[in-house]
Amino acid sequence: MQPFAYNENGQLSIEELEIAPLARQHGTPLYLYSRQAIEQNWLQFDGAARFNHRCCYAVKANPNLAILNLLAKLGAGFDIVSGGELARVLEAGGSADKVIFSGTGKSREEIDYALDAGIGCFNVESTQELTRIAERAAHKQQTAPVTLRLNPDIDAETHPYITTGKKHNKFGIPNNELESLIQLCLEHPHLELRGLSCHIGSQLTSVSPFIHAFETLLQLYDELASEGIELPWLNLGGGLGVRYHKETPPAPAEYMQAIAERLGERRVKIIFEPGRSIVANAGLLIARVEYIKNNGLQNFAITNAAMNDLLRPALYQAYQPIIPLSRDNDSPLATYDVVGPICESGDFLGKDRELSITQDDLLAICGSGAYGFSMSSNYNSRCRAAEVMVDGQQSHLIRAREQQSDLWRGESMLP
Ligand SMILES: *Cc1c(COP(=O)(O)O)cnc(C)c1O
Repeated sequence: MQPFAYNENGQLSIEELEIAPLARQHGTPLYLYSRQAIEQNWLQFDGAARFNHRCCYAVKANPNLAILNLLAKLGAGFDIVSGGELARVLEAGGSADKVIFSGTGKSREEIDYALDAGIGCFNVESTQELTRIAERAAHKQQTAPVTLRLNPDIDAETHPYITTGKKHNKFGIPNNELESLIQLCLEHPHLELRGLSCHIGSQLTSVSPFIHAFETLLQLYDELASEGIELPWLNLGGGLGVRYHKETPPAPAEYMQAIAERLGERRVKIIFEPGRSIVANAGLLIARVEYIKNNGLQNFAITNAAMNDLLRPALYQAYQPIIPLSRDNDSPLATYDVVGPICESGDFLGKDRELSITQDDLLAICGSGAYGFSMSSNYNSRCRAAEVMVDGQQSHLIRAREQQSDLWRGESMLP
């Protein structure tokens, strides 16, 4: 759902609040999220699966404690990719036994931490990693629950940087190693094979690559079942796309219906790891136009938000709509490249955008709830933005704007 709209005064509002006063109160750049949108997206996704399943929110999409806490209260599990994300989940009240630990480079320290916390499962991505997990579990006299992540060699038809299930990608276990790893799991006293997993990419806008991946998992599942090995789980990962601009991704219900049809009567539990589809369209980035500039060829709107705040346009040439907070104004309509103050030509938020704006106007960059703040940095020694959650008529500061002294926290000069 879109949680924002222009009200009768032409002012952009989120839930029941006008945004411009929030921007004045908290300053800009400012990340704004809608509680209602996050919760509705979650309930829609989770509720669409009418079979044995569990949804584990992919923390990396947006790891703010307030968001994790809202989802934990709705019964969410969590998909994590680092020890830091595990710490966040536990801090936010998530339960360790619903945590799935994905990622290609788990360190010994992270594996130990996850074993000590009692997480639900490791998504294993290589022989080397499985060996390490088994060693650490044996050392602790524990049994590590694992799923093996396949690389099904499927084109997710999305941006190359977020395609993760092609055979040249770094993700997943090569096909020729899978059988021996399954054997290893079954025989090893400190490993418990929970099932198979895959995650073929992000921002998928059609169901067919998911179905293709699911059929690959089901085929293996059936083969093992015929040998008397009944796997409890199959994990399909995340990746369901959202509409940023003109995309037409399947609704969760359509996706789940397609899965249900292939699943049939099998009793295996299906795990999903949605990230983007839960939070992307629940968030806006608010920025102020510092300057309007024309170099003789082009108009630039230079905003106080930049690629350090929102990296997706620079990194993936991602398109996110940019709209003014005040719709009815008499500024001339012109075409702008909306750029930030950072010393890189790749520092843009949008290109060729038709806008009626003038200096000091406020803009909203839509679709910023996922991979927005979580990919932000301090590049150019810029303080990271504040984050605010709107809940009906109320707003809550859920992350304070960084102060300049935060920029050098932990640094020291030579004596
Ligand atoms: C990134 C990631 C996800 C979430 O992907 P979305 O496209 O945000 O839904 C889920 N699982 C794994 C293993 C991931 O790496």
